[in-house]
Amino acid sequence: MTNFSAQELRWTWEKLWDISGSNFLKLIKDYNSCGISSTNPIMINKTGDCAQISCNNITFCNIANETAFKVVLIHELGHIVYHYTGANAMKTEHLNLYKPSSGSIHAVTSYGATDVTENYPEMLTYYLNPSVSEQTSIKHTNSTIPYSKPENADYYQLANKILCGGT
Ligand SMILES: [Zn+2]
Repeated sequence: MTNFSAQELRWTWEKLWDISGSNFLKLIKDYNSCGISSTNPIMINKTGDCAQISCNNITFCNIANETAFKVVLIHELGHIVYHYTGANAMKTEHLNLYKPSSGSIHAVTSYGATDVTENYPEMLTYYLNPSVSEQTSIKHTNSTIPYSKPENADYYQLANKILCGGT
């Protein structure tokens, strides 16, 4: 991680520790199709834009709010799971929930409704930040907790299977 303050590094460490009982880190690292290792680590550089760039590269923006920082951290790492984890990411199951054969798009959050590739990390993010309301790197004001909505129960179940199923 480069260009982060001591506080931001602490928030990162706290969040990764917080979720260390789930499969999340295993999914982004051990099943990464470009082979993450000590010589090919995942790099997170604070450049001003929050985005997932490649299988081992994330850029980060300035987020002064601790809760939003932790949400966006998991969201960006969640993109790596979506694109590089393979079968363990259960993308087909996710797509079936997102675009049911009958009816319109069903998204975890309003940001998730912008694209299937955004909804997937949103699904993981709020499972791993269970008491947090819907927010993005620029908007922390929404009062809805995504998994408090009954219509998101199917996503909760899938996130549970991906993140806590099996080992
Ligand atoms: Zn995203």
